[in-house]
Amino acid sequence: MRFFASWALRCLRWSYFRYFIPAKLDAQFVERGKRAEELAEKRLSYFRLRRGKNRELHFRNYIVAGRPDFVTRDAIIEVKSSIPRQFFIPYLAQLNLYMLMEGKRIGILVLVNERDELIKTIYVGFSRFIVKQCIAYFDALYEHIKKSVIPEGVIDSKICSSCSFSRRCGNGFRKV
Ligand code: SF4
Repeated sequence: MRFFASWALRCLRWSYFRYFIPAKLDAQFVERGKRAEELAEKRLSYFRLRRGKNRELHFRNYIVAGRPDFVTRDAIIEVKSSIPRQFFIPYLAQLNLYMLMEGKRIGILVLVNERDELIKTIYVGFSRFIVKQCIAYFDALYEHIKKSVIPEGVIDSKICSSCSFSRRCGNGFRKV
């Protein structure tokens, strides 16, 4: 099975659906992401950024794949056009998995405010604890997929109301 680092520590039910159903990319969202990366690349040029490459982590039952936005000599850089509070932990998880893939100890989350052309940087040290949580998460996902059992969802109105699988799941319309 092939999973993606960007799924780590999100709602497990979301990742279950995502495994079977390809993402429908929103053109506006993709365009916004590209502009954020371009701005970050310009502003952080002193880091001597390189574009990240496709990487894989191989576990006994599955592969976790991903590609960091940028890599420097010492760090991984992941650019976001927004960091909603409910996605902060999954973003940290993604960053840590990229650090593991690239053998780096520092991760930098870059938040780009396109309107003001401002960027904020959040430095993160590599965390074995978070990586262990990610592995436990993907182990659980693997088991659910193998047994064809849909996992429990997070049932968090902030997450569910904007979830691409809310209709299929049924939790998107439930008040917490
Ligand atoms: S609607 Fe909520 S519980 Fe259901 S998959 Fe999406 S995030 Fe998970």
